[in-house]
Amino acid sequence: MTKKSFDLIIKNANELITVEGASKYPKIKKQMEEVGTIKNGAVAIKNGRIVAIGETKNLLANTKSVKKIIDAKNKIVMPGFVDCHTHLLFGGSRENEFTEKLKGSSYLEILKKGGGILNTVTATRKELEKPEKITNKTLKTLDRMMSYGTTTAEVKTGYGLNAEAELQMLNVIKKLNAIHPIDLIPTFLGAHIIPKEYINKRKEYINLLLEMLPKIKKLAKYCDVFCEKNAFTAKEAKQILQEAKQLGIKSKLHTNQFNDIGGIKIGIDLKATSLDHLDYVNEEHIKKISTSGTIAVLLPGVPFHLMNKHYAPAQKMIKAGIPIALATDFNPGSCPTLSMQMIIDLACRNMKITPNQAINATTINASHAIGMAQEIGSIEIGKKADIIILDIPNHKQLPYWFGINLIKTVIKNGKIT
Ligand SMILES: [Zn+2]
Repeated sequence: MTKKSFDLIIKNANELITVEGASKYPKIKKQMEEVGTIKNGAVAIKNGRIVAIGETKNLLANTKSVKKIIDAKNKIVMPGFVDCHTHLLFGGSRENEFTEKLKGSSYLEILKKGGGILNTVTATRKELEKPEKITNKTLKTLDRMMSYGTTTAEVKTGYGLNAEAELQMLNVIKKLNAIHPIDLIPTFLGAHIIPKEYINKRKEYINLLLEMLPKIKKLAKYCDVFCEKNAFTAKEAKQILQEAKQLGIKSKLHTNQFNDIGGIKIGIDLKATSLDHLDYVNEEHIKKISTSGTIAVLLPGVPFHLMNKHYAPAQKMIKAGIPIALATDFNPGSCPTLSMQMIIDLACRNMKITPNQAINATTINASHAIGMAQEIGSIEIGKKADIIILDIPNHKQLPYWFGINLIKTVIKNGKIT
């Protein structure tokens, strides 16, 4: 065997967690328990890609030269987290509503009073007047996100809610994607909520969204709708997503977060890539989703922050064969965390997800939820070298220590960040 030269080697990992074998289809059922552990593992990187994997001894024996070596003794090495559902571009913050919630107001009550998302829409529109400022502010958000181990994130619009501001949001996301190491997957969420100006003119707003779709199709990979009471009906969601689909924009759907108003059927009929939230689902819904090929993106940070204690029945879903992904839903109202580690902590404690299931749900299955599983989500030869090193000796400790940033090193596209 000819010896090879590499740019970077990570050696001596107490556990190298590869999450291998599911780049084509997401992991389901028992596969969710397999994380592909190599004891005393090593991984070699060249030109930003993973080029060799194995036991440290063997990998080093086949190395001719290497520019840099990281020693991961007593640590675990795993794929970077993929946060497949975020609203990370926004203006303002909503700590006052959090205080209101502590006094007993519900999310939907705050929304009805004109607070909630509408508050963020006003603040975002204002901040978008100075695109450079909001871009710089969000770069800091992305830095913080990366420091917690996230290497790819989906980002939704939905705080502009008029033709100009929504387009501006997509352009800011494009710019952020070009200048920040984290890869961003843009999603158009013009159908987040009916903006104030259209409160008695729903049909006109839907028509505006339909008119916008051809203009945003080059900037957005997905189209999403918030299908919920006081947001959009299932019929409206169908109309918007169907039109998007005809233009070649794939579907995602916020559905069954608080109520069942028929979103699941719409998502399945339109072959949505993912159905997100799903906190309020019954046996029949679970059965339908399990045969649909769609991914369930569960967001346990939301019921935690809203303190409603109503979590998606994750284990029932896994048992039924639904591929589960986990994400932050990072946004200023219902989930102000950037930490996928925190999401894993919450999923284990409140949904009884196991550490192994949580690792699959935040890496390879999350990559499938944004159509990126051929490129990222596992440590396999040929994939992007998006790798994190955690300062724990085994992966079972990942959800065990909670509220602590366990990240030691983040490697994005083969570069130490
Ligand atoms: Zn969301």
